Amino acid sequence: MRLGFVTPVGTVEIDYKSHGGWTTVPLYSAQDVALLPIVRPLVDWRAVATARPGRRSPLAALTPLVPGEDRVLLAEVGQIAGVGRAAAANWRRRNDNFPAPVGGTATSPEFDRAAVVAWLLAHDKIAVPTEAPSAALVVAGAGGGTRRFRLEDPHLLLADDAEDEDRLSGWSTDENADALAALSAGTFGLTVKHLATPGTPPLAVLGEARVIDRFRSGPGGLRLTLAWPAGLRGTAASGARGGLVRHGVAYVGPGEGCVCKRHDCGGVVPVAWCQEHGDAVGPVLEWHPEHGIRCADLASRSERIARDSAAPA
Ligand SMILES: [Zn+2]
Ligand SMILES: [Zn+2]
Repeated sequence: MRLGFVTPVGTVEIDYKSHGGWTTVPLYSAQDVALLPIVRPLVDWRAVATARPGRRSPLAALTPLVPGEDRVLLAEVGQIAGVGRAAAANWRRRNDNFPAPVGGTATSPEFDRAAVVAWLLAHDKIAVPTEAPSAALVVAGAGGGTRRFRLEDPHLLLADDAEDEDRLSGWSTDENADALAALSAGTFGLTVKHLATPGTPPLAVLGEARVIDRFRSGPGGLRLTLAWPAGLRGTAASGARGGLVRHGVAYVGPGEGCVCKRHDCGGVVPVAWCQEHGDAVGPVLEWHPEHGIRCADLASRSERIARDSAAPA
């Protein structure tokens, strides 16, 4: 695979049996590879990562690169750095050491991509990504006990409706995929005590999370998909221990004797010494996670009932 602006740091000979024997494979530095999605903003990197085996990679559609002729316009310099063309033009005007054009015209100059990337790095306009995004999961199976997992390049799809399901996919190792599948195999599936993904506050899922798909992409990569009923999703408690805050909704409203913490949804977080909901009572409760779809639904319903009953007949 040609990696665009980067230059191989060396080569290695690999005996590819399926490709007719020994082949020279270029090696690239980890920094150059980490920079690729930044340096080539016009490539759909998610499509590259999820291309099915045997399919033409979106990378193949890139124009063939002749060494020394990988050029960018100021607009793409801006895209690489996450700014507009005008800001890129300003950098060029104000900095004598900005790379000189290697082609194009006076109004539409072209720059060598590698030289521009080196300048952007040196002037802190871009940085080498230190780690790929990942999702951290703390789960508990039916047998109790918690385990931690990590899914790389996660994609989380949250349903709008409590009747739908949420989906989380990400790359995993075979070993972790097997362990997650085994843990979710029981009648009640997995409980997600804490799920941290980029761009979403920590979530928790009360149960019934399952591995619903395993997709292998060529050698090594295994993409897992987990799903759970959206109504069982809520926020994970903040605090050192993390985990799930559940609300119990009694089928009969809490009475005078209840000393539990009450919530807008009508639910309570039972305390051991409550006469109605405590340890000794074994109350019949409908459980839902705090700040989930169900919690919001019940809260708006009880607000409506309160409003209606306050209104004059
Ligand atoms: Zn109570
Ligand atoms: Zn609630």
